[in-house]
Amino acid sequence: MKRPRIVLVINAGSSSIKFMVFSMEDEKMLARGIVERIALPAPRLKFVRHDGRHVDEEVSIGSHDEAMRLICDTLVDPDRGVLKSIAEVEAVGHRVVHGGEKYHDSTLITEEVKASIREFSVLAPLHNPPNLKGIEAVESVLPGVPNVAVFDTAFHHSLPPAAYLYAIPYEYYEKFGVRKYGFHGTSHKYVALATADYLGTGLDRLRMITCHLGNGASVTAVSQGRVVETSMGMTPLAGLVMGTRCGDIDPGVVLYLVRQGMSADEVDRLLNKKSGLLGVAGIGSSDMRDVIAAAEKGHEKASRAIWMFVHRLVSYIGAYYAVLGGADVLVFTGGIGENSPYIRERVIRNLEVLGCALDAAKNEQAVGRPAVISTENSRLKAVVMPTNEELMIARETVAVITAQSGESR
Ligand code: ADP
Repeated sequence: MKRPRIVLVINAGSSSIKFMVFSMEDEKMLARGIVERIALPAPRLKFVRHDGRHVDEEVSIGSHDEAMRLICDTLVDPDRGVLKSIAEVEAVGHRVVHGGEKYHDSTLITEEVKASIREFSVLAPLHNPPNLKGIEAVESVLPGVPNVAVFDTAFHHSLPPAAYLYAIPYEYYEKFGVRKYGFHGTSHKYVALATADYLGTGLDRLRMITCHLGNGASVTAVSQGRVVETSMGMTPLAGLVMGTRCGDIDPGVVLYLVRQGMSADEVDRLLNKKSGLLGVAGIGSSDMRDVIAAAEKGHEKASRAIWMFVHRLVSYIGAYYAVLGGADVLVFTGGIGENSPYIRERVIRNLEVLGCALDAAKNEQAVGRPAVISTENSRLKAVVMPTNEELMIARETVAVITAQSGESR
């Protein structure tokens, strides 16, 4: 297989397929979009071309296969598309959430890989099955085009046992795979690489703490490009306070609630869907912008939600600073990390003890673009780095296919 020039990136969810097309010679994004409400009433296609031209319309599709066909038709539409022929797509990269312990790297998708993704569905029941549906949809619509799986867990494979094991009998790890896997790996990897690049320092010379703060949120300690700690666990429920997830909680709370008569599904919904900013602020929104706006109007619970969010993050950063034996760079990414000077300021003001000094003016100006937001003399440098998981998936896809062609030569 030759080095692919046009790569399609797919992120398939239970009722949506997000996609992006890249020209890999210059890493230019040609188009991006989403088909949403698949198999629900009133499905929609949103499609944006590199020149800003966009489409947002109701479509009639009822399955992932039909959504995939629609995406391909749109990409080659003579009026609104970006490709002359679908044969220009030379490889497809798929976001796959769980690669278990088996996949340390991105991999070419074969029947065996698909069987593993299916097998790991017990660990990621909400994500792996739709990811697999996306792969099968591409296989049926673009037969013969190589597919690559890029796992959210892979970057965390370097976690040492002291970090990934839970303090329960070892047989639960052996029999059931109960351990920390970590998630958001593609984002943490992208920002670690991009930050080293931006600072002009080799990744092998940096100790970094990367904070991905979006609807889901996680923090990772990266030493010389290798993950040594991360805040999400066996599932993405652990760690930071998130949009609707509680993050760390005493497991005794779960037992207590079950003994009070709640079912496992009810506790699942409570902790995954009704907690975090949504549950604490109580303003009917999990969006940090709404929570900040309410807090600024004097809403007490919204203020509390923000302080809990900040407090938990600061606790993790402090712990990871120690785990790393000191850190050089603190990176903010994800919707909140990239766009909220307000939150970054509250976090960094609590990190003076670690030698992190905020440059308030630079922080205010750094919205959605790479920037150093600490002072020149700050011992711990703070950086804003927008993530680009899709580009990372496209790069990994090219790397896997190119390595493959080297092997087969
Ligand atoms: P996802 O995890 O779904 O990919 P994002 O990374 O886009 O989500 O992050 C979404 C979060 O980013 C939301 O909580 C949103 O409120 C927050 N966000 C986006 N812009 C801002 C902003 N200017 N200030 C504060 N939060 C913001």
